[in-house]
Amino acid sequence: MGTILIVAETQNGAIRETSYELVTLAQQIGGTVKSVVIGSGVGDLASEFAGKGGGETFVADDAGLSNYNVEGWNKAIRAAVDAAGADLVLISNTPLGWDVAPRVAAGLDAAFVSDCFDAKDEGGKVVCHRRVFNGKLDAQLTCNADKTVLTVQPGAKEPFSGSGDGSTSALSVDLSGVRAKFVETKQAESTGIDLTKADVVVSGGRGVGDPEKFPEVIQPLAEALGGAMGASRPVVDAGWLPHAHQVGSSGQVVTPKLYIACGISGAIQHLVGMKASNYIIAINKDADAPIFEVADLGVVADLFEVVPALTDAVKAAKG
Ligand SMILES: Cc1cc2nc3c(=O)[nH]c(=O)nc-3n(C[C@H](O)[C@H](O)[C@H](O)COP(=O)(O)OP(=O)(O)OC[C@H]3O[C@@H](n4cnc5c(N)ncnc54)[C@H](O)[C@@H]3O)c2cc1C
Repeated sequence: MGTILIVAETQNGAIRETSYELVTLAQQIGGTVKSVVIGSGVGDLASEFAGKGGGETFVADDAGLSNYNVEGWNKAIRAAVDAAGADLVLISNTPLGWDVAPRVAAGLDAAFVSDCFDAKDEGGKVVCHRRVFNGKLDAQLTCNADKTVLTVQPGAKEPFSGSGDGSTSALSVDLSGVRAKFVETKQAESTGIDLTKADVVVSGGRGVGDPEKFPEVIQPLAEALGGAMGASRPVVDAGWLPHAHQVGSSGQVVTPKLYIACGISGAIQHLVGMKASNYIIAINKDADAPIFEVADLGVVADLFEVVPALTDAVKAAKG
């Protein structure tokens, strides 16, 4: 591989951990690693990233880039691709990446693959992997274009924690013609739930089957254990529970002492949000469900038989 450009993302005044995961992937692919940090007043963050694996790091620092907008970011990334002479662009598969990466790829007439969890260089071509059919199959894709843009699943690689000989250089971006304007950031309403602080998380998935079963079956076990109730994304997408309950790549990343997954298949996007839990119990009636690969204790059974019985047993044990 020639040159790989990492688009390092910032959030709340820090480089996001997913950007360091991109460093790990770039090093695995092999080639010259360069990066770009975009924003206003981001010089120090760029220096930090350059010294931690980002390599030669371009700093697109402009008041017009102080808040994300897709047109400005597209222009900055395109300028960095030109300055770096990049063959491959790596962007995290975050909401920012979902928004800007297809536009960058279209502008470059590049091959584009979203939501990859792995990639390598095979004879100068990027060969990448992504999950399809709800995580049941892995697709291997070979990119046949001069340039390639990939978005990479958060959590797919360990974040790079070493150091490197990086440097920074200012990148000027022509923001004329940008029509999108930042208006405001709206915080989601607080629901009072903070899954990230719970010692025990009991989560329900699509297998729970009915919104009314969450307060009837999942919540009582969470309460008996003094924990909080989580959920997989389909549960939240269906409006059965608010987003604050969602565990996974587009929800909360949790690391409780005990995580109980009820009727959750174990798609990679869910696993990245809970696999670092200290002890994982999975209850699923499908013995082949991928959740069992990360479970310390697997129960192949109907959750409606096991969970209420477990709740009763916990209550009895507590007296
Ligand atoms: C960009 C992107 C981001 C995503 N982010 C997230 C995320 O943050 N979090 C997330 O969870 N997903 C996320 N997903 C979705 C993810 O790919 C899966 O679709 C989702 O995790 C599946 O949810 P599930 O396991 O509840 O449902 P399913 O995959 O449908 O699994 C349901 C499981 O329930 C079991 N079951 C059914 N009935 C019972 C029963 N009575 N007793 C026991 N077991 C039973 C079944 O055997 C099955 O394994 C994301 C996807 C994309 C593309």
